[in-house]
Amino acid sequence: MKRDFDFVVVGGGPAGLAAAVQARSLGLSVALVDEQPAPGGQIYRAVERAEAEGRAAALGADYRDGLALVRAFRDCGAVHFASRQVWQVEPEGRVFATDGRESIVLRGSRILVAVGALERPVPIRGWTLPGVMTVGAAQVLHKSIGLLPSPGVWIAGSGPLVLHFAAEVVAAGGRLAGILDTARGGLPEAAIANAAGMLRGWRYLARGLGYLAALRQADVRRVTGVEAVEAVGEGRIARVRWRVNGAWNEAPAEGLLLHEGVIPSTHMTFALGCAHDWDDAQRCFRPRTDDFGATDVEAILVAGDCGGIGGARVAECQGRLAAIGAATALGRLPVPERERLARPAREALARHRAIRGFLDALYAPPPELLAPPDDVIVCRCESITAGRIREAVALGCRGPNQVKSFTRCGMGPCQGRLCGPTVTGTIAAELGVPPAQAGAFRVRPPLKPVRLGELAALAEPGEGA
Ligand SMILES: Cc1cc2nc3c(=O)[nH]c(=O)nc-3n(C[C@H](O)[C@H](O)[C@H](O)COP(=O)(O)OP(=O)(O)OC[C@H]3O[C@@H](n4cnc5c(N)ncnc54)[C@H](O)[C@@H]3O)c2cc1C
Repeated sequence: MKRDFDFVVVGGGPAGLAAAVQARSLGLSVALVDEQPAPGGQIYRAVERAEAEGRAAALGADYRDGLALVRAFRDCGAVHFASRQVWQVEPEGRVFATDGRESIVLRGSRILVAVGALERPVPIRGWTLPGVMTVGAAQVLHKSIGLLPSPGVWIAGSGPLVLHFAAEVVAAGGRLAGILDTARGGLPEAAIANAAGMLRGWRYLARGLGYLAALRQADVRRVTGVEAVEAVGEGRIARVRWRVNGAWNEAPAEGLLLHEGVIPSTHMTFALGCAHDWDDAQRCFRPRTDDFGATDVEAILVAGDCGGIGGARVAECQGRLAAIGAATALGRLPVPERERLARPAREALARHRAIRGFLDALYAPPPELLAPPDDVIVCRCESITAGRIREAVALGCRGPNQVKSFTRCGMGPCQGRLCGPTVTGTIAAELGVPPAQAGAFRVRPPLKPVRLGELAALAEPGEGA
């Protein structure tokens, strides 16, 4: 099978799919590698299967809209490497991907990193208990196999996905114990500071109000002004506790789904050595790019949520722009033609981005999530608490990599994906410096687990001892 391409796309969500379709229309040879068995990414996960099983309509019009993009991708002539995890990308354009048994190497003149977002870690007391998981994980189970939470499950957190998922559960005939809403950003303040964007993004607001109405109609309990949440139980969650106006409340819980927004998945771009900036509005690092997603590493482009959280429509526009930019960089599209083709994508991008300032202000994560109390576990893989990180800082550690050496924090199987943001936040708070100065974990390949036998099989004939 062909292994050399003009454009290799990593990630089959809206950004990657739109980029592949656009690049093919410009005559580039394209491969798309994705760890999921079918195209769609997070938002359109398993959309073809859900449609075939008659479940797609209950998952909402936005979800079903993804079918058109997935079908356009299937028809565009890109080579699809499905169920393959990319565990290494080299700045010169080699992409290594495993299916769990065998690794392949693809070569691209340009590589698009479109690996999406991950949920912001929510380190609270009890978050490692069985029965506590994230809203996103519950949504994966629902979209993939139609599984709904039991009626005794609570949701705690804030962000568009909380209301979206709760409404999704209700629409599918499920029930929830209730929602503990931790949103701290005042609605009036967020609205006043972002009035113009709110008006332009009224469709997104209308959707949010629709979710709230559906939840009210289904009589889902919603507690607002929640300042702190804890999961309590022996061996698994039995109760959830929450604080409002300084007073603690408690209720039985069969499960707890946490969510405090999503952050860019930056492991790949950090490993590639791309420059990153701290985004103060979204409280996360993101790779530095130009309008066409080009990074400071020549062969590498970025599109979608892994370059900064914008949502599915923004991701799609960025994917198209990245493909247009790549075609020009490869000498296949003159600059004036690039500008003509880019105009509609740029206009749509501005329209879909307009609401972001309001959402970022409304759902800003509370500071204690970024720097939790001493007894809270931060690194789940190695059971390292926030207190241990503070001790390491007191001993003189000035950044995440030193803390890693001193404590093993970030050395487990998740490779710091889950603790990284909290480690940065805790160090920054202790030292009284901006998070950008505290820095992030250094990332090294393999980005995903890979067997030694696969590595050995990749050796060129004549290499080795
Ligand atoms: C858990 C979760 C649930 C979400 N649910 C919703 C929702 O219901 N509605 C909504 O509007 N927005 C939702 N979002 C936000 C939404 O996913 C994004 O706005 C949108 O999907 C971004 O598109 P994207 O193409 O940038 O990334 P994604 O859609 O995330 O696509 C990235 C793809 O890359 C793949 N990938 C990642 N790493 C690798 C690797 N190493 N090798 C191979 N493949 C890889 C992923 O599996 C995924 O298929 C959700 C986000 C998350 C994290």
